[in-house]
Amino acid sequence: MNDPNATITLPAGSAIFEEGEPGTVAYLIVAGRAAIFLRRDGIEQPLAERGPGEIFGEMAILDSGPRPTSARAIEDCVLVPISEAQIENRPLQADPILRLCLGVVMARYRDAIALLKPHAPAVTARPVAVEPSPALKADFQAAISVVMMERALRRALDRNEFELFLQPIVRLGTETLAGFEALIRWRHPEQGLVPPMTFIPVAESSGLIVEITEWVVSEVGRIMPEIMMAALQNPGAAEGPLFLSINVTGYDLARASFPAMVAEMLRSTGIAPATLKLEITESTVMRDPAGATEALSVCREAGMGIAIDDFGTGYSSLSYLSKLPITTLKVDRAFVRAMLTTPCNRKIIQTILVLADELGIPVVAEGIEAPAEAAALAEMGCAYGQGYLYGCPVPLADTLALIRNWKAAGGDAPQIAAA
Ligand code: C2E
Ligand code: CA
Ligand code: CA
Repeated sequence: MNDPNATITLPAGSAIFEEGEPGTVAYLIVAGRAAIFLRRDGIEQPLAERGPGEIFGEMAILDSGPRPTSARAIEDCVLVPISEAQIENRPLQADPILRLCLGVVMARYRDAIALLKPHAPAVTARPVAVEPSPALKADFQAAISVVMMERALRRALDRNEFELFLQPIVRLGTETLAGFEALIRWRHPEQGLVPPMTFIPVAESSGLIVEITEWVVSEVGRIMPEIMMAALQNPGAAEGPLFLSINVTGYDLARASFPAMVAEMLRSTGIAPATLKLEITESTVMRDPAGATEALSVCREAGMGIAIDDFGTGYSSLSYLSKLPITTLKVDRAFVRAMLTTPCNRKIIQTILVLADELGIPVVAEGIEAPAEAAALAEMGCAYGQGYLYGCPVPLADTLALIRNWKAAGGDAPQIAAA
């Protein structure tokens, strides 16, 4: 904020902006005072004064309309401009409900100012109904769908409409089963199977993800014994106990009770902690590195595995890798998909494998669809693979059948129809 290159110095009396101009910046006042005013019949009508630590000119950049007022420095001013681009990526802009509320407040504020203007109808007159802008209409629609989705998710939790699908993770060398990733599905009564990417973001922004993750954890407690039993029925399928990976978000880790909640499920079911892995993306970790590190450390100390998901696509701040108690890196399928055609992707995978080797942890390559990809990854020293080549995510019953019928290297790995 005190970066001298980012400040503007204006002598007292300078105009800062004029009513009706397009507004592209707001101003934070570091020093001095500014007057906000309207001109009525050539006479200035003061509206407000702003001083150090205050902001002005924010309206035009928040709703992209013309400046509703004018502003002038009434003392020597030092100002920090805030651009539209700086506002654009803030969480407020990402959340349609907050954006709608803001849009409505702005529209009403603009109406109120319009009533003070020279050509405005008398203050006692009813303001003319203003047609909402297309942007406001779009925000309105987006906010409605988020609210509806939140309600539907809450109902889905109450009515037990979620289901865990499971996708195999194999040892690339021997093509034996190593474990499964649990991937949530919503069996919607009318819409059928809803994929997670359509509801997880809303579950996160509404906080419902916490209850959904709790459901996932308890469901793992229910299905894990069945998976272990199926593995016992086909001793050639795996080389050791199968693990189960679940996806965890920063919202889950932010709750102090998260590690205890998972530990309690493990204790009450007698499931070995080492057979549960928590998958977490780099971007989630980077939102609150200290909090995430603390929660994951407690889980790791309790014996659970910690995998970094979609590795290579997020912030990729390597400094956190040394601090987090990571036991696995999962290379994003974007790199795997393009590895045979784009040498650069192959090099990125190679680099991740070297990095993981230095850290002493294995790598899971995601999204393997072709035998040639599996062969290339195995040759490069990648220990584990996951993808449609070995099986799509499928319900528990199909997963149990897959384990019982699994044939390791030498036979053909079974293919399961897409879910
Ligand atoms: P993810 O954790 O990266 O999960 C892998 C996704 O890649 C899954 O999509 C899976 O079906 C898909 N996939 C696996 N193999 C292949 C392949 O060979 N080719 C292609 N094209 N895709 C493949 P899905 O199940 O739709 O899940 C999407 C995302 O939703 C997951 O990405 C994860 O971020 C999130 N998610 C899923 N279940 C949960 C959950 O229980 N909790 C949370 N918080 N997030 C979840
Ligand atoms: Ca995952
Ligand atoms: Ca992934």
